Amino acid sequence: MTTRKAGTRKTTPRRATSKGADEVPTAPAVPEASPDADLGAPSFASLGLLPELVHAVDAAGYPAPTPIQVQAIPLCIRGRDVMGLAQTGTGKTAAFTLPIIHRLHGGPRRTRALILTPTRELCQQVEASFRKYGRFSGLGVAPVFGGVSYEPQEEALRAGVDVIVATPGRLIDHMEKRNCSLDELEILVLDEADRMLDMGFAPQINRIVNGIPPYRQTLLFSATMPPEVEALARKYLRRPIVVQVGRRSQAAHTVRHAVYPVPGHRKTALLVALLRSHEMDSTLVFTRTKHGADRVVRALHEEGMEATAMHADKTQSQRNAALEAFRRGDIKVLVATDIAQRGLDISGISHVINYDVPGQAEDYVHRIGRTGRAAQTGDAFTFMAPDEIAMVRTIERVLGQPIERVSMPGFDFGTTA
Ligand code: AMP
Repeated sequence: MTTRKAGTRKTTPRRATSKGADEVPTAPAVPEASPDADLGAPSFASLGLLPELVHAVDAAGYPAPTPIQVQAIPLCIRGRDVMGLAQTGTGKTAAFTLPIIHRLHGGPRRTRALILTPTRELCQQVEASFRKYGRFSGLGVAPVFGGVSYEPQEEALRAGVDVIVATPGRLIDHMEKRNCSLDELEILVLDEADRMLDMGFAPQINRIVNGIPPYRQTLLFSATMPPEVEALARKYLRRPIVVQVGRRSQAAHTVRHAVYPVPGHRKTALLVALLRSHEMDSTLVFTRTKHGADRVVRALHEEGMEATAMHADKTQSQRNAALEAFRRGDIKVLVATDIAQRGLDISGISHVINYDVPGQAEDYVHRIGRTGRAAQTGDAFTFMAPDEIAMVRTIERVLGQPIERVSMPGFDFGTTA
């Protein structure tokens, strides 16, 4: 339980310089930010987690904690506010789920932790993590997200849960209906904070945070740190320690990137050719629009290829079914729009294809976070039409490195972009 005073939530977060909290430059509390820094490869047990949790991660088959877990878990266990700069695929969900279960274990049954997420998919993924790692603990977890009926959520909340994992809008509905009480909340997590702000959730977050106790631990995770997220952290976190994996906006290094220059009208043909010529077991294709996604799926069907679209026009059960089929390997190609790009936890993706160049460099990093996940490799191909050259250059600037150009005979538009 954190017992700290409110009213001093104005501290500027201390920032790690490059790789991790042990490099936090100015903090007097530096030693506590460098667990096992010099002890070689740390294990889950050495991070101070309950034996039951160590057993749970063993059962999940994780050989060792990832860098974000090494840095964040001991701080979270100690009740510190933490700002985690980590993109999806780094193990960041377990980095906050494990210490929360550790802290809540054996306590009274009331809602003590709230995790806010931008999308339903991420909400379900975080809930699944609580269930996976917390099987022994008997903690009650309720997922709360829109697009589905209220009643089951109402019932779960009214029965009393220890942890709520929620998207902001639907949680506010339940708060207004007094289906849940957050009066005794001890831990708040803002997951994928940059994406929540992108999606316009700032007013809802504000409203929710105003309704929960100021005496709490707050954890914020974000793939990027634009000024808006820093402002959010200044407002809600108290003397946070910044932990960071890799360089800001750095793409997962296991991913091989390539850009295919191709005229816009030849993109579908190139996609078909690539799907046929490569060993592409499971491929996530991103398009800019819903219609684009549907068009690509139709075109692939015409070529006799299995593919499913995933976007905001699909109902929740259609999205779940698509994801399940993709996960089982029944569907090899999932075509998704931006809305679906976060919160998908699909291990074993072999390829990500940006059918359209993402409009923002940060989105490129998030998208390719779908592949090249922990200990895997994956390829990220981007189709670049002549009018997308400038966007690719911007992405390369943010990545700090050029992306290899690969031309497919018959498809290149003959430019050196
Ligand atoms: P996340 O960054 O939370 O989206 O997690 C990415 C993936 O890594 C998930 O599929 C996790 O199950 C997996 N994962 C989390 N921690 C570890 C670990 N220590 N070792 C291997 N895989 C992990």
